[in-house]
Amino acid sequence: SIRKISEKYDKVFVTGCLEPQNNGPRANAAFVVLARNKELEGVVQSMKSIERHFNRWFHYPYVFLNDGDFNSTFKETVAKHASAPIEFGKVDDSMWGYPNWTDKDVAQEGIRKQGDAAIMYGGMESYHHMCRFYSGFFYKHELLQKYEWYWRLEPEIKYFCDITYDPFIHMERANKTYGFTIAVKELRETVPNIFRYASAYKRLKNLKSQGLWEMFLERPKEDEEETLKEDTKNKKELPEEILHTEPGADDMEDIHPDAMEGESYNMCHFWSNFEIAKLDWFRSQEYNDFFEMMDRSGGFWMERWGDAPIHSLAAGALLGPSDIHYFRDFGYRHTTIQHCPANAPARQLPRIPFLETTTTSEKERIAEDEYWATYDKEKENGVGCRCK
Ligand code: GDP
Ligand code: MN
Repeated sequence: SIRKISEKYDKVFVTGCLEPQNNGPRANAAFVVLARNKELEGVVQSMKSIERHFNRWFHYPYVFLNDGDFNSTFKETVAKHASAPIEFGKVDDSMWGYPNWTDKDVAQEGIRKQGDAAIMYGGMESYHHMCRFYSGFFYKHELLQKYEWYWRLEPEIKYFCDITYDPFIHMERANKTYGFTIAVKELRETVPNIFRYASAYKRLKNLKSQGLWEMFLERPKEDEEETLKEDTKNKKELPEEILHTEPGADDMEDIHPDAMEGESYNMCHFWSNFEIAKLDWFRSQEYNDFFEMMDRSGGFWMERWGDAPIHSLAAGALLGPSDIHYFRDFGYRHTTIQHCPANAPARQLPRIPFLETTTTSEKERIAEDEYWATYDKEKENGVGCRCK
């Protein structure tokens, strides 16, 4: 329930407006920025924002990654805006593009069809590569090997509030694995089969829910149950040709719509353009098994699976609520969606759709009221302080 997440498990790390607490230890961490030369302006905007609101006090290094080569203008310009060391890395073919077990023609045809169907980014080959890279490879890049933590930065994002404490250190101390600030609902047509595979993974590995999985489940109202069952029945299988035939294929045969055991995905996911997370979790055997199974389904090509629902469903299967941190004190904007605690209308849900969908009983409604009382009090006390 809401109360469980917001109060028992996940308090804000620091309440109130502080002078920057930057005289403590530093974490072994870096900003990770995947970008192209043409995005330089947006990258600079993001750097200005994070430097002004955080990094001018903390000086965490940056790792810039690109499937192409950064040009000298890009390198020189970003260097001017960083208050910390920078490294530039290339993403090679082992982490980007079609692996040798895919039938490239089938994959490209799949992408073309998604373009025709006007699925958002569905017809854009490079976007599929990017999502797959952020789902299963970035943490394997050689430049990230020395780091334990990363903070993802994208072009054209904005931080509104001063972040005067070290989120890595706080996550370490609170024993957190994954931090987010915005959760939204995915466009259903981009991930029609994602949940079948994620759910099958959980079942095949005999994973018991640690409590986070339920947050990604739809809670159908009585009269909607029939329609949902119909939906599941009509779900198209991913085409045979794209599925791999290497060891592990047996697992795939087990995946049947019934694998969902009546559960269905509520489309909620942590918006991964902001992420602070422990790299060791991504490097773990379990996460990589999950990625490999998802990857082998062909869903990164035949559908347009984003890294956000991939990371989120992996977290649902492998982590519990206490491993997750909601940075509700961070004011953050990416394109049209933002979360700014100091400016949020008091009764507006802070963009966690699963909170809405899990509120059913009278008891939970009371919990929600209490949650909001806490939220309002924190606001008065200055959570999200110095938002500009
Ligand atoms: P959106 O946030 O979903 O609209 O997607 P973006 O276009 O912002 O892409 C997500 C991240 O991947 C951003 O950091 C982009 O700079 C980066 N990115 C996307 N496509 C490519 C690509 O083809 N090459 C490189 N090097 N970076 C990319
Ligand atoms: Mn973006």
